[in-house]
Amino acid sequence: MSIVDSLIKIILEEWKRQGEKGRVSRINIQVGKLTAIIPRTFQFCFNILAKDTVLENAQLEIAEVPVKVKCSQCNSVREIDEPVFVCPECGEKALEIVSGRELFIESFELV
Ligand SMILES: [Zn+2]
Repeated sequence: MSIVDSLIKIILEEWKRQGEKGRVSRINIQVGKLTAIIPRTFQFCFNILAKDTVLENAQLEIAEVPVKVKCSQCNSVREIDEPVFVCPECGEKALEIVSGRELFIESFELV
């Protein structure tokens, strides 16, 4: 809920900065697979929190960002599908997560 809340605040601020024109019709966001955000739940929370704002009825386009890890041993960067944090190249367990935890607003459209 709090993530949705801050997302709405950020877009509202940007909307004000752009001169408070029109309404927000579509929001493109990128969500890392490790954030545990479920798109349907996200849209549901959004609908509740965006009510009575210019964001009401905006469509959320959620793109999933794959999880990428970097091996501290051999430095290879790999995309992983499962939460198995072992380097597929050398078997090292000390991996650094380089993507998959982010949530950012790519763009939004006004009508
Ligand atoms: Zn490795």
